[in-house]
Amino acid sequence: MGMDGGEEAGVDVHDMIIIGGGPAGYTAAIYAARANLSPLVAEGFGAGGQLMLTTDVENFPGFTDGIQGPELMHAMRGQAERFGARLVAADVTKVDLSRRPFAVWIDDEEHLARSIVISTGASARWLDLPSEGRLRGFGVSTCATCDGFFFRDKPMVVVGGGDSAMEEASFLARMASSVTIVHRRDEFRASRIMVDRALSNEKIHVRYNAVVEEVVGDDKVEAVRIRDRVTGEVEDIPAAAMFVAIGHDPNTGLFAGQVDLDPSGYVVTDGTRTSVEGVFACGDVQDTEYKQAITAAGSGCMAAMDAERWLEATAHEQTSDAPTGVVASGKDA
Ligand code: NAP
Repeated sequence: MGMDGGEEAGVDVHDMIIIGGGPAGYTAAIYAARANLSPLVAEGFGAGGQLMLTTDVENFPGFTDGIQGPELMHAMRGQAERFGARLVAADVTKVDLSRRPFAVWIDDEEHLARSIVISTGASARWLDLPSEGRLRGFGVSTCATCDGFFFRDKPMVVVGGGDSAMEEASFLARMASSVTIVHRRDEFRASRIMVDRALSNEKIHVRYNAVVEEVVGDDKVEAVRIRDRVTGEVEDIPAAAMFVAIGHDPNTGLFAGQVDLDPSGYVVTDGTRTSVEGVFACGDVQDTEYKQAITAAGSGCMAAMDAERWLEATAHEQTSDAPTGVVASGKDA
């Protein structure tokens, strides 16, 4: 039944709208579609999520030799479509979770749904320096895969001390003349294997206890000015590009004031349940701890199953005719 499942004031009532197309959203879509819920997926303009900005994904189980991020997303997307998910590569501009059915505006067009799955993920964080903003796209970037190639054979700087910084540095070292990692502490947050891989590369150097004060250059990056937090010394590191890899913030602006968010802006969940009944969340938008493609996909599966069970349990209360596509999906591994 899905999108034909009822009408309110001339607008179709979907059983489920999934907001966000990444590993979490697509996995939720696969499970919901296979439960006959014909989910509508608002993928957003950044369809595919953060994995579209990665090269090798080496830790997603099932791919012995790794897989390219965009390729993995393409496959998940196609799998969701095969079972009848409707995908729209547009942004959600507004939601109203205070009414039933819920209202979701995709590209300013109103859609109604009995249940919602939030899988909007997270976005890269910036240092928020004026010079960083001015030179964004002119050597300042958060995506080594996208922009590293433009600065080949030149020195580059990576800011951060987590796995992303190590990954970016190792990737960039293939094309840069040298890579300097600037980290604000004397100890990395990144996992041992990622640190070892980066530090064993002779092109990669590290400045510990250092913060970026300014990106130097008028219309292109010429150097990165750092300050040593111990000695107070300021130094310009010559660089043609600066890659910021200091983590991510959850994309929850749409939901502020409508579902409970934690102080960092992540959706608060109990399992995948949010503070609003019928609204579920999965993936990085609610994950402060693991933030992996595989955990996002796993929680997407959980959200779809939780939503499906909730729809079934509340079918008699739903404003329009009850969803018929709701069946236990225990057989589907
Ligand atoms: P992260 O683990 O949160 O690390 C962020 C790093 O940036 C930290 O070292 C932090 O410093 C630093 N930082 C944060 N704000 C800063 C600021 N304003 N100025 C300077 N430095 C700042 O983020 P991530 O590296 O993006 O990784 C996110 C998650 O994805 C992690 O769970 C990670 O394991 C995973 N990941 C895995 C892989 C892989 O396995 N292939 C690759 C990439 C990411 P402090 O250490 O001082 O806090």
